[in-house]
Amino acid sequence: MASVTLNHIYKVYPNGLKAVNDFSMDIADGEFIVFVGPSGCGKSTTLRMIAGLEEVTAGELRIDGEFVNYVEPKERDIAMVFQNYALYPHMTVYNNMAFGLELRRVSKDEIKKRVHSAARILGITEYLQKKPKEMSGGQRQRVALGRAMVRNPKVMLLDEPLSNLDAKLRTQMRSEILKLHDRLKTTFIYVTHDQVEAMTMGTRIVVMKDGFVQQIDTPRNLYSYPCNKFVAGFIGTPQMNFYSGNIRRVGDNVELALDNTDIVFTAPYELFAKTDSVYLDGSKKVIFGIRSEHISIDPDKYPFKAKCKVSYCEDLGVDSQVYGNFDLNYVDLIEPEEYSVPDEETMPKKKKRGKKNEPEESKQEETNESATRVVIKAPAATKIDRDTIIEVSLDLSNMQIFDAETEQSVVPRIPSHYTIGCSVKGGVMTILGSEFKLPPAVSLDDGEYTMDADRSALSVGTGLKAEFLDKEVVDGVTLNRFRAGDTILYVASDGKVGKPKGISIDFKHCSFVRDGEIAIGAMPEQNSLECVLTKFVEPTRQEIDGVTKEVKVKRYKLNFAVYPETIVGKDGTLIADERTIAEQFRSKSVPITSHSIVCNDDDAQKILIGAGRAVYKDTLEAQFSPFDVALGEGLDGTVETVLDYGEEKFAKCLVGNTPVYVKVEDGFDQTSVKLSPNVNAIKVYDKTIDIRLV
Ligand code: ADP
Repeated sequence: MASVTLNHIYKVYPNGLKAVNDFSMDIADGEFIVFVGPSGCGKSTTLRMIAGLEEVTAGELRIDGEFVNYVEPKERDIAMVFQNYALYPHMTVYNNMAFGLELRRVSKDEIKKRVHSAARILGITEYLQKKPKEMSGGQRQRVALGRAMVRNPKVMLLDEPLSNLDAKLRTQMRSEILKLHDRLKTTFIYVTHDQVEAMTMGTRIVVMKDGFVQQIDTPRNLYSYPCNKFVAGFIGTPQMNFYSGNIRRVGDNVELALDNTDIVFTAPYELFAKTDSVYLDGSKKVIFGIRSEHISIDPDKYPFKAKCKVSYCEDLGVDSQVYGNFDLNYVDLIEPEEYSVPDEETMPKKKKRGKKNEPEESKQEETNESATRVVIKAPAATKIDRDTIIEVSLDLSNMQIFDAETEQSVVPRIPSHYTIGCSVKGGVMTILGSEFKLPPAVSLDDGEYTMDADRSALSVGTGLKAEFLDKEVVDGVTLNRFRAGDTILYVASDGKVGKPKGISIDFKHCSFVRDGEIAIGAMPEQNSLECVLTKFVEPTRQEIDGVTKEVKVKRYKLNFAVYPETIVGKDGTLIADERTIAEQFRSKSVPITSHSIVCNDDDAQKILIGAGRAVYKDTLEAQFSPFDVALGEGLDGTVETVLDYGEEKFAKCLVGNTPVYVKVEDGFDQTSVKLSPNVNAIKVYDKTIDIRLV
């Protein structure tokens, strides 16, 4: 039993293919995690990295808190079950299960005990003396599970273990694996491309696409709060209905207009209050998403009504699916018999239709959001004649909204930023009926502005007078709902506060826009400086066989200056001596500022492995926050200005031409500084291949 932590994990194959990008996740002891996504999205690669069968290119992998990137697979205490069982055909079931333990020199008695116990749990005791070829697929997969179980692994990894089984057996084995997990209480990580399998098995699911994690969540949250259109379409059968359109706030309502139809829903603003406000003026295209079960052929079931033209009804026994179109002029060319039931066991990407219409179908898939097709779940044996125009009702509280370009949800569960109108006069800002004296760092001319505030800009406090409405807990974050003027604001807190009285604004996280131009921007959260890795030899005293000796230890530095090859060789070794370097500095043949910080050995190792041999040549990028810079020694910086936000002050310094922001104390009045980023808080990226190394 163990936890598994993936921290900014990348996999770049030798041919340059980036199979896994920036995968971060904490898997708790005993969880049942499913990795799901279309073929080739990086599920198996991630699993194989956890198993140790594939090297981690960059990032940190921990099992039970222990750093295991370089630990041999057999030392990781992990068992893996594959799709193809991988049993030895010439061995009996007993020997197949016992083999791994024999290699580990476990005693014969203990092996017997463990094999019999696993066989009992899996119901294969009577087959122990048989050979795999005498068994069915399901039984063989049980043997493979048994062989993994007898090792009492800390983590069980399962790679599409049921893909070779027929649908019925698959469903049965699914529940058996769940029972097994319940019984063993071991951490399970399970890979599948089948969303139904994922939804029925995982305590949490990782949805992946093209090597990127899309969303990590519980099945319920994936279904109800998909973070983007891909997840929305991937989870659930039949696929969610998508329509392009736009939203507009009109007084206390919002109007949702669907393109190519006459449909405009007028819904209370409260229902869409979490919508990113930049979408509320109707100018940005969105994609609406609604599942077939949230539309009813009963016009009175939900308050929002629309007309649609029916093409076809399909009776599935337990319920029906009604296919129709919101475009009442739509002429359906698809023959009724060409509609067919989507296969529940495969990805619900496409409904199968007749060959004749395939080109049209693929065109419709491509322009799905502009299509006006609708699938509605209806009671069993629903019969409606083709081309009948019916009134349906929609549950808009379950409507999803995505940006038409990025396809990301514009109604995040925890709003990421707020756009609020405000006016400034004589250094005083009036916003949502409250007045703020602006700090010196935000010296705005009189006029009207839009304040764009990051999520972290608003906190429960004082300043902005707002009526507290209620709170909800989202992913462990308490979200307080306030009304200020005509706007609803959601403000995160740690949950310890009683009844909140108002809202504080942290101006360093706010930008002010006037006539489409940024008048004053937010302070960057991260500084970014170019650097290179160089190596040096450090004489170190070590005790060897009871004698203290001086040995030369290879260490690494991050150098915040780009050295010419006369100083640093291709392999990163400093070639020139200090005097030569000093001369080159004086003659200005090297940048005038340079500073190096010695890396932690672990970090250096990760940089070297992640970026490979190009590391000494390639310029890396170091990122660090304004709070993680020490003043006193290091890089030369010229102070351009001091940003005074009231309680906090930051110096904006120029290092070469690069701005670096640094937290400074009250009374700071220097014109030049020496800066040293804290090595423990630095993030290092290799921008040429776009991966985070540390
Ligand atoms: P999945 O398990 O989601 O189907 P994989 O993790 O097997 O996907 O593969 C992810 C991507 O990495 C795919 O594009 C695949 O072709 C590629 N890939 C897998 N193994 C290798 C390899 N050894 N060398 C190069 N590319 C690979």
